[in-house]
Amino acid sequence: MKTLLLGAEDIPLAAEIIKNGGLVAMPTETVYGLAADAFNGEAVARIFKAKGRPMDNPLIVHISEVSQIYELVRDFPEKARLLAQRFWPGPLTMILPKSDKIPDEVSAGLDTVAVRCPSDKNARRLIELSRPLAAPSANLSGSPSPTTVRHVVDDMNGRIDAIIDGGDCEVGVESTVITLAAQPPRLLRPGGITLEQLRDTIGEVEVDPAVTEPLKKGQQAASPGMKYKHYSPRANVILLKGSADAYISFVNSHGENGAAALCYDEDINKLSLPYISIGGAEDYCTQANRLFASLREADERGFGTVYAHCPDTGGVGLAVYNRMIRAAGFEVIDIE
Ligand code: AMP
Ligand code: MG
Repeated sequence: MKTLLLGAEDIPLAAEIIKNGGLVAMPTETVYGLAADAFNGEAVARIFKAKGRPMDNPLIVHISEVSQIYELVRDFPEKARLLAQRFWPGPLTMILPKSDKIPDEVSAGLDTVAVRCPSDKNARRLIELSRPLAAPSANLSGSPSPTTVRHVVDDMNGRIDAIIDGGDCEVGVESTVITLAAQPPRLLRPGGITLEQLRDTIGEVEVDPAVTEPLKKGQQAASPGMKYKHYSPRANVILLKGSADAYISFVNSHGENGAAALCYDEDINKLSLPYISIGGAEDYCTQANRLFASLREADERGFGTVYAHCPDTGGVGLAVYNRMIRAAGFEVIDIE
């Protein structure tokens, strides 16, 4: 299949492709998404095929106006309204009881649907000109999510109808996912909207254990996506837990055999091995923004092992930690 590379001026053409059941990769403020008409089960099934995504991992439906949600859900409770008012358009996904218009391919057979209203202007225009869009991240399943158009081309060229180039993504990690189908509401995936912001808006919010820990054997995932190995470059990612000094001395004595440090800006001058910095040690937004591109860069530069330093888990740091620990396959070494 020939994949068209489109600019923002070609969005009307991209909308026609969507309405005809095709697949279009679109920029969003979080990561690039791979979109199909959310009401067309056959088109949505093609997304799973193009990504190699397990069919039991449901997709997020993207809307451009809050009013479109009434077609998608059976119930839009007060807490969901408050969250929509404060954080939409933006990087927050809400899980709600689904309407019978949602094809099983979108919800992977669950009784709920994930909904988000993105703020990216190109994504919004594509939705306005076509339909609500079912869209997971536009990467091959398991690899780091794409935050630049080049990442999308690397993974998806020849597998989908078109890619819209909208520049680099602002947030860099996928949306925060909260379920309002549980009581109390529960954070399933941390992202650009923080746990602190959610609690500040609707009060009690639980954190699903799978946010920070591997699922126990036989345990069911509240969010099916959390049970899969994720965000993994070919390089072996190892997460080191300890002080900045302990990190420096550990990596400096493990620099043999093509290893590199996935470090913070403050570490750079103290390192005696190759490195990729993801930003300042307390600048969680920059870390989120650079993490996936850094993991892909590790592969491009041929590193066999990358040693990452466990981030703090406050604010957007929780999202960085959640992605890093999955990239590391939950392999953490305590270096203190
Ligand atoms: P991605 O599209 O790659 O951002 O992944 C979407 C995430 O949302 C995955 O972790 C899914 O498992 C999760 N998700 C989507 N729909 C639901 C749902 N109805 N219930 C729980 N989790 C969901
Ligand atoms: Mg994904």
